[in-house]
Amino acid sequence: MKCEEAQEFITALVDNQVSDEERSLVESHLKDCQRCRFSYEQEQALKREIGAAGARLHAPVELRSKILSDRRIFPDSERSSGTWTERIFPAWPFPRPALALALAVVLILPILYFTRTPSEPISLAALEIQKKIIGGEVSVRKASNPDELRKWQIRAVNGEFAPMEYDLSSMNMLPAGGAGEEINGRKMLVTYYTGKGLSVTCFTFLGTEEDAPKSVTVFFDNAKRITFYTFSKDGFNAVLHRKGNVICILVSKIPMDELLAIVRAQARPS
Ligand SMILES: [Zn+2]
Repeated sequence: MKCEEAQEFITALVDNQVSDEERSLVESHLKDCQRCRFSYEQEQALKREIGAAGARLHAPVELRSKILSDRRIFPDSERSSGTWTERIFPAWPFPRPALALALAVVLILPILYFTRTPSEPISLAALEIQKKIIGGEVSVRKASNPDELRKWQIRAVNGEFAPMEYDLSSMNMLPAGGAGEEINGRKMLVTYYTGKGLSVTCFTFLGTEEDAPKSVTVFFDNAKRITFYTFSKDGFNAVLHRKGNVICILVSKIPMDELLAIVRAQARPS
């Protein structure tokens, strides 16, 4: 087999779409030809890259079900047959899925690049969400009463955990709304308390103390046997603590000592 022929079969080989006879011909060529072996290894690496990129990409559940249920994108007749490249590119001119994938990766990667959440600690991402809530960029589900909000939040995470609750009524603050966010593939519940011109946001998610930012002030409450981690960014103060497998971060513009006092007063050891 000549190099030109081998090159034609390499993509098919990566996709496992060759006959036994073709496979043995290509493989024996690859054994002897460094140049073709190199392009075969590159194709394999590309395919792995695409697979890994797909695994890292988490579309929000709602968006995913919207796309999958949209008949303009996936008509019923096509929903259960063919590969995803055939479904997305029904008139795809290339018979080789790896070629389709190579082109898809050119189209998809720039989007991935822009939509991937920067891999900062989840706790710092919470501060960003706080800014977005105040700026109106993240819509908060309004609560007619705290119970209804809490039930909705627990449903939003399939009952995996419940939002940490605070009684801020002594500061004239009540839960005004909530949101569910997904950061680096992790679900986070957001409860927004407000009143008298003040606001406090509570972020709850499954995690460990490892989720605290690198630079924190650690405060150990000896009476409660709870460690609190405090940090600030862009004018917001935050107090993080763990209860069982749940991490809670309270974020506000109120002074750090007051915020810490609120969390200390209401935190229960796990
Ligand atoms: Zn060759």
